[in-house]
Amino acid sequence: MSEEDLIRNLKKYFGYDTFRKGQGEIINEIMQGRDALAILPTGGGKSICYQLPALMKDGLALVISPLISLMKDQVDALKEAGIRAGFINSSLSAKAYKKVLSDIKKASIKLLYIAPERLENEFFKDFLRDIPISFIAVDEAHCISQWGHDFRPSYTLIPKFIEDLGRDIQLTAFTATATKEVARDIIKNLGLKDPLVKITGFDRENLYFAIKKVKNKMDYLISYLKEHMDDSGIIYAATRKRVESIYKGLKKAGFDPLIYHAGLDENLRRKDQEDFIYDKKKIIVATNAFGMGIDKSNVRFVIHYNTPKDMESYYQEAGRAGRDGEESDCILLYSAQDIIINKHLINLSDNYDFKLRQLDKLQVMINYTNTSTCLRSFILGYFGQDFKKPCNKCSNCLSSIEKVDVSIDSQKVLSAIFRLKQAYGFGILIDSLKGAKNVNIKKRGLDKLSTYGIMKDDDKAYIKELVGKLIADGYIRVSSNPYPILKLTQKSKEVLFDKKKVYLDIKREEGQRKEDQTFDKDLFAYLKKIRLDLSRKRNVPPFIIFSDKTLKEMARLRPKNEEEMLMVKGVGERKLIQYGDIFLAELREYKG
Ligand code: ADP
Ligand code: ZN
Repeated sequence: MSEEDLIRNLKKYFGYDTFRKGQGEIINEIMQGRDALAILPTGGGKSICYQLPALMKDGLALVISPLISLMKDQVDALKEAGIRAGFINSSLSAKAYKKVLSDIKKASIKLLYIAPERLENEFFKDFLRDIPISFIAVDEAHCISQWGHDFRPSYTLIPKFIEDLGRDIQLTAFTATATKEVARDIIKNLGLKDPLVKITGFDRENLYFAIKKVKNKMDYLISYLKEHMDDSGIIYAATRKRVESIYKGLKKAGFDPLIYHAGLDENLRRKDQEDFIYDKKKIIVATNAFGMGIDKSNVRFVIHYNTPKDMESYYQEAGRAGRDGEESDCILLYSAQDIIINKHLINLSDNYDFKLRQLDKLQVMINYTNTSTCLRSFILGYFGQDFKKPCNKCSNCLSSIEKVDVSIDSQKVLSAIFRLKQAYGFGILIDSLKGAKNVNIKKRGLDKLSTYGIMKDDDKAYIKELVGKLIADGYIRVSSNPYPILKLTQKSKEVLFDKKKVYLDIKREEGQRKEDQTFDKDLFAYLKKIRLDLSRKRNVPPFIIFSDKTLKEMARLRPKNEEEMLMVKGVGERKLIQYGDIFLAELREYKG
């Protein structure tokens, strides 16, 4: 099949005119019958890499995926695009299961999503024995590796399953996260034969990365949200308690957020997740329990209220922004306290190896929050990819940085820790430097120390940042017994006695995510409203009808007839039939 044929089908079923990076080659090789391992970043367009071949090849394609909660959405989205697909997992009723089996028998579906657990089912295996299978696609393939962060024992059933089918079946694997070890594991454990290995890199060009060192996180959050009233986004916090307090704070400030953490009733959680996906409400405050399997494409921002424990978690969570390719924000609100809490939590573990590994990973996060070079190059470097800085789309590339000598203040902080007999935590240290008159200080007689109040004229936020910097650079150590206590280190002496200089990076005037100005904003908002109405009527998530990107392009091009409508990226033949008239009529009548 020629490249043109592939593109024609891409347009027909998915409404796109060009392949994204890697897609063309992967699809081509899969069409030729070759095994493949494709590593594309989140939002890179993995699904189309197996969906398109599934449509064009003879037989049924099996897609093995661990994301049970996603299957229904994925299959619904395919049906919207006019693609015959089905799924089998534990959520299916007996009746629905039978219906899928009969659809398979009649060859009336081209794609079948299954959960890996199903592979053990002897009846199901028997049933498949004389069904023509075009190829198998293993989604989230990193789950087969013990090296990955997400090992699933049920994935190890895959090779046996294929063997039991008793045929030579083409096998393909897809993931967004794979280090070299994991990639090797996937090939070996799945038994891929002479596969095409395509890695397109991990960069997400449409994401703006920022680290904000703000005086008051809640104030910052509220002002950010006020400036982005039309946008949908996720606010992640480290603990349930923190999630609750942010949620309440936002309510009080007049917002109407959703809430999600593992301590909440399952029904409430499900409802909030759905309200978010269906754009009924725009923002959600959540712990990291939220997100696995959320592929809502129009998440415009992900704000981390607390620093996550490692870069893998951070990039995965932040990466939930902008899957549709539109400009989106990933903002981390820094505080030194987070580092202390994270260290403390790790130190509580009595598994020594685990502890060391986690502390190493945390150190990477600490370095990330303190680096003054390009954030994107830092992240990609961590995942083993060279990236030429500057990216000009992160808070470091977009702000001028001034190095300020804070050696004297650092000496004050370290002396205070010494005077406090290295026996107290963060709060007492800050209070004692500021000369606070609270009971904690008084009753311990800490107001008698010579260092009491030596930084009383300095800003509290500044002192906190400075302490964080000293921890990050190893001049202060955080120990746990059982509370986080600040101690001096070998290195502290260099600052206290050897006149070693300490510099703090002070950022000036920060840049922001650049808003796309080339389309009519009001019209876009209007089209979004039409989409929302349709979504309610037909009970499908809005982004499944058209993505934000597609609506923006519609607002830009203002198509007047079906032909012009088809020129809009994301409008395929089927969508044109389903929704084209409605949107064309609205566009015709719209007087902006
Ligand atoms: P992931 O790699 O994270 O699984 P998806 O397959 O969900 O990514 O694709 C992310 C988004 O990009 C979807 O909205 C999809 O429709 C869109 N997309 C995929 N391929 C293309 C393409 N060639 N042109 C434009 N958009 C595309
Ligand atoms: Zn940068």
